[in-house]
Amino acid sequence: MSLVLPTYDDVVHASATIKGVAHRTPVMTSRTADRLSGAQMFFKCENLQRMGAFKFRGGYNAIANLTPEQKRAGVITFSSGNHAQAIALSGRLLNVATIIIMPEDAPAAKKAATEEYGATVVTYDRYTQNRDDIARQMQEQTGMTLIPPYDHLHVIAGQGTAAKELIEDVGELDYLMVCLGGGGLLAGSALSAKALSPNCKVYGVEPEAGNDGQQSLRKGEVVRIEPPRSIADGALTLYLGQLTFGVIKRDVTDIVTVTDPQLVKTMKFFAERMKIVVEPTGCLGAAAILQGALAIPKDARVGVILSGGNVDLKEYAGFLSQP
Ligand SMILES: *Cc1c(COP(=O)(O)O)cnc(C)c1O
Repeated sequence: MSLVLPTYDDVVHASATIKGVAHRTPVMTSRTADRLSGAQMFFKCENLQRMGAFKFRGGYNAIANLTPEQKRAGVITFSSGNHAQAIALSGRLLNVATIIIMPEDAPAAKKAATEEYGATVVTYDRYTQNRDDIARQMQEQTGMTLIPPYDHLHVIAGQGTAAKELIEDVGELDYLMVCLGGGGLLAGSALSAKALSPNCKVYGVEPEAGNDGQQSLRKGEVVRIEPPRSIADGALTLYLGQLTFGVIKRDVTDIVTVTDPQLVKTMKFFAERMKIVVEPTGCLGAAAILQGALAIPKDARVGVILSGGNVDLKEYAGFLSQP
């Protein structure tokens, strides 16, 4: 089977499609982060994106590219949270009906927000049921178009716009650190980095408990893992996509992992020092540098995508009060 991988051109098109709809999020710096890392760090704040995560970029781009008939029939998707909100909000903005298939144990804040955006939510048990099967079955019954969370050309292209903006705003980078779940953000970011900052080393960062991406890169093929347990609920995917892996194995330097305690420390750093709320998954890229999972040369220019800020406030309070 020959796969058509997304290209940087697709990212440029996505950029035009989301213009004026998605926020061009700010890039923050911190002297404390620079002192701790010995590097120059640039944080792309997708925690401040509409609906609270970069996923709005890919979701909106994917729905906007449907044919008029497809738009009339509506969109179905599965997600542990942020992609669901992205599709729900994009559907509302583009007047397209949406059904979201979500795990029963998804964070309450994410479930509620998805329903508030006007989507219909259907739940499943992620330890016993396969979401792909459920989604495909419902898609056949309803004639709606399935937009998966990461393995989709327009989704990947949309996600790549965040890194594009980051490099346009701060200039070329030596390193780009990207949170990794199914790889939409990492693949899209790598396309932008290779085009705009060709010498930039692009790293994916996963929770240690769910290192399927790292195993896949080492093995040269997509490796499937058992459902992992980590506070990084946006990165609990079991395997990379065919498209995302195709780009990742070509353009990504390596994949490193961080632990849950390292994510908590990083979340506290953002709250205390930079006054921003970043969800556990959103801390992956920063944790790799600030907690020393990846050694980098002094004064390196390091871009970090803070991928999202959607965290249940009670859980967040619990994280912040950990010693
Ligand atoms: C979805 C998500 C990720 C992972 O993105 P992929 O494209 O699946 O790799 C990282 N951070 C947050 C906040 C997310 O919502």
